[in-house]
Amino acid sequence: MEVGGNVWMDEYAMADTIQPALIPPLGAQGYYKPSFQIADIIDGRARLTDDQFLELYENAPLAQLGRYAAAVTERLCPHDYRTYVIDRNINYTNICTARCTFCAFKRNDPSASDAYTLDHEVIYGKIRELMAIGGTQILMQGGMNPALPITYYEELLRGIRERFPTIHIHAFSPPEFVEFSRFFAMPVAEILKRFQACGLATVPGGGGEIFSERVRSRIGPGKCSGDQWLDVMADAHQLGMHTSATMLIGHIEDITDRIDHLHKLRDRQDWALANAPAHYTAFIHWSYQPENTPLDKKRKWNPDDSAHFLFDGGRTVRLADANEYLRMLALSRLYLDNFRNLQSSWVTMGPKIGQLALFFGANDMGSVMMEENVVSSAGTTYCLSEEMICRIIRDSGWIPAQRNQYYQVLKRHDGGNAPDRRPHNPSPARPRQHQITAADAAAYKVAPLVISAKTHH
Ligand code: SF4
Repeated sequence: MEVGGNVWMDEYAMADTIQPALIPPLGAQGYYKPSFQIADIIDGRARLTDDQFLELYENAPLAQLGRYAAAVTERLCPHDYRTYVIDRNINYTNICTARCTFCAFKRNDPSASDAYTLDHEVIYGKIRELMAIGGTQILMQGGMNPALPITYYEELLRGIRERFPTIHIHAFSPPEFVEFSRFFAMPVAEILKRFQACGLATVPGGGGEIFSERVRSRIGPGKCSGDQWLDVMADAHQLGMHTSATMLIGHIEDITDRIDHLHKLRDRQDWALANAPAHYTAFIHWSYQPENTPLDKKRKWNPDDSAHFLFDGGRTVRLADANEYLRMLALSRLYLDNFRNLQSSWVTMGPKIGQLALFFGANDMGSVMMEENVVSSAGTTYCLSEEMICRIIRDSGWIPAQRNQYYQVLKRHDGGNAPDRRPHNPSPARPRQHQITAADAAAYKVAPLVISAKTHH
């Protein structure tokens, strides 16, 4: 189901009419008084500048940032619910020409014993399993595999569209499109157009990492530049395809690289909202997971050595802990005033920090993931069922609601038959990647979804 660009423009315009948010009272302890009018930022009357971002990052206590961000979230998402989506990550190949140093998933050698490319039938089987638990979309991304012709993608997209017409196809990140352009000797916009005609609906923001070249060239050799990434998304927006945006923190970047990244996203979103029929629907940042990655061999920053972590040419890694993750989330909420939705990254931070994220600027819990291969290759083991995500949202004070890729509510879980309110039915321990079993499918089977264009937010 496609949604016209005007609906979303109206939605953004509507946000301006919402009552200004009140800044919640702050206790005297740990309070930092900004040198600028923070109320203007919270109420949407002014934009946070790069210098103000840095000032808050360096001086404001975490709880204070959380209160500011929560007030902005209430202004932009003044609903009694918080959302999640049920989708499945399908990584169609792990063969890749790039050599990202934070990646434990890729196989550069196609003859490696564990290198793979999925047949179309295998992918169809995965989608059938997804539909059995009420899933609505697939997030399909892969390595950049030069052996695959354009027909592999076009036949796959058409095959999915014919077999599963209600499944939303959210697929192929900007680095893949840049490589497709090289592999198929065709402009990115042309490939996007062809894929769109075959069923591609939206483009995920994978591969954003950090746009700054001094960082990107060191952690992502063989991958597109930051400007190329942004240009692919601009092409998608011009073709009417919404996209998401991402940022990877907690490696060799410092705070100025992160601000530069957010600055570019905010600028491009301004452009898209003014000039294109589609735009970025959400921003998601997550933290680098070191296990099994080449980058893990680097020296780790010790906060006792210096007050601030500064980029040192990539020799030192500064991992992001919960404080760093939440601090960046809150500041991103303040800075990205033209992004409606910020996702919690429970996949890398765990369910408890993922829950806290709802009070630090996130309004969405992301995906109930049946399968995830990329960050789990780097040691992350968190997985959440629909029942658990609903419980997290309800315990936080909101009604859980299943959404689609356009952040339209498909199902509010007010009643007693909500996933987290059904009689407890102990199920066997799930495998690490939460791959669906027949027992899972039976336990989580839900009624067919009704998509209502009137319930979008
Ligand atoms: S992160 Fe993506 S582009 Fe980079 S090496 Fe891994 S699979 Fe390839």
